Amino acid sequence: MTPFLLLACQESSEVDSDEIVVMGGGLMGSATAWQLSKQGYQVRLIEKQDSIYTQGSSFGEARIARSNNRGNDIWSYLHNRSVREVQDLVDFLDENEPEAKHVMEDIYTTSPVTYVGRTRIHDRLLASLERQAVKYDMATSPLEGKEMYNVELPDSVLMQREYNLHSGMINPQALIQKLHQAIRNKGGRVEYGTKIRGIEYNAETDLYDLAVVKDQQEQQIRTRKLVSALGPYTGSILKPLAPYLDTLINPQRVFLAFFRVDPKVYQTLSPEQQKKLQEFYPVINSSKGTRAGSFFSMIEYFDPEGNPIIKIGGHFQRSDIDELDQVWQKELKQEELDWSLNSTAGYMQMLSLPIKREDIQFVDGYSCVYSLTASEVPIVSPIIADNRSPNPNVVILGGMSGVGAKGAMTYGLIAADLFTQREERDSMYWVVKEALGFARLLEDVY
Ligand SMILES: Cc1cc2nc3c(=O)[nH]c(=O)nc-3n(C[C@H](O)[C@H](O)[C@H](O)COP(=O)(O)OP(=O)(O)OC[C@H]3O[C@@H](n4cnc5c(N)ncnc54)[C@H](O)[C@@H]3O)c2cc1C
Repeated sequence: MTPFLLLACQESSEVDSDEIVVMGGGLMGSATAWQLSKQGYQVRLIEKQDSIYTQGSSFGEARIARSNNRGNDIWSYLHNRSVREVQDLVDFLDENEPEAKHVMEDIYTTSPVTYVGRTRIHDRLLASLERQAVKYDMATSPLEGKEMYNVELPDSVLMQREYNLHSGMINPQALIQKLHQAIRNKGGRVEYGTKIRGIEYNAETDLYDLAVVKDQQEQQIRTRKLVSALGPYTGSILKPLAPYLDTLINPQRVFLAFFRVDPKVYQTLSPEQQKKLQEFYPVINSSKGTRAGSFFSMIEYFDPEGNPIIKIGGHFQRSDIDELDQVWQKELKQEELDWSLNSTAGYMQMLSLPIKREDIQFVDGYSCVYSLTASEVPIVSPIIADNRSPNPNVVILGGMSGVGAKGAMTYGLIAADLFTQREERDSMYWVVKEALGFARLLEDVY
């Protein structure tokens, strides 16, 4: 036992054997804690940040939520099932807090999702669209681009637009707040400002001892059942229980830049042009045909004067991290700012809007982090016990990558079901559970 845990043990607390401790109050931990509460379990959610988050992979007000995914149907299911789960959450809060009005629009902004890509993906795109319930249209040539959307498509570039209800953007900050409210309504505990410093399994008691710091005091939390949803910190904190996660779940830095169109220029746009600018976000643009040229971009919020603040980042511009705790402070390099500005200006040109590069003003920029598995498919699974069987008392959610937000409620549901043994008949539920689950974890490790 480490000296720190020895010290902490002196203040050991009673164990509530019915309680499940959830480590990490980002989207995954909060969604899992809610799903467990909904199924009648007592939860204790532990989060190191104060109630107003300033970092974490779930930090911010906007992520793209979409049904269509060219590669794999599991992403489509994760999103659509999450929409249903959010509706359920909103209904629950509405019933329990009649004085506050909760609506889906607090969480989702329905807006066409625009995909720009090379025409060589056309067949794959059509095949995926046949399998997935997506309302869409698509321009596949410069002429169709002009006629359908009044945009300037280069040769060999297509534009697809998805129009499903609740496709567009999801607001992680608002969703986490609602999840915490709902957990408390069910009698669960949400503890902010509580940092987990270490974790140990005690074979004699069959309990997990967490050494935590709260209000500069060292404390111990003891539990039989544990969920780990620590985002990029999964590998380092779970090392004593699951050392393999440290190499399996790889934290990556992703930079984000925020711009606005010079307000003087924005005000000269006609109402139709302003509407067009707003409706052609969010966008996923891979039309350069290179991974380095691909970007995602969306309107994060509107400033007090009504100017849209456009966020842009690139999932393929990500990089390894030396110091996880320091990465949030890392400033953007000039080349990252230039890439962000050029990509934004290029998109304005594609939209045929009278906005030049010099009309686009830098507002903010920062580094953030998410974590990836090698296949970029997340893990929602029990950890591996000594005899390579699933340990039913510890479930991890990790490697949620750059598409975790839209499926958060489904990941949480699957994680909760691993404790509660709740099952569903829907075949896609099983496909997704398998893709994320224990057999896959074993394969990745051995
Ligand atoms: C730049 C960027 C763009 C993205 N774009 C999209 C998108 O367009 N669409 C989409 O669907 N998804 C997107 N994602 C992905 C999505 O946001 C993430 O997959 C998701 O937020 C991951 O949530 P999480 O709960 O796993 O991690 P986190 O949010 O990091 O949660 C982990 C929590 O654990 C807490 N914690 C860590 N260590 C400790 C400790 N020692 N003690 C106590 N608490 C601790 C942290 O403070 C944090 O709150 C994007 C992510 C990023 C970073």
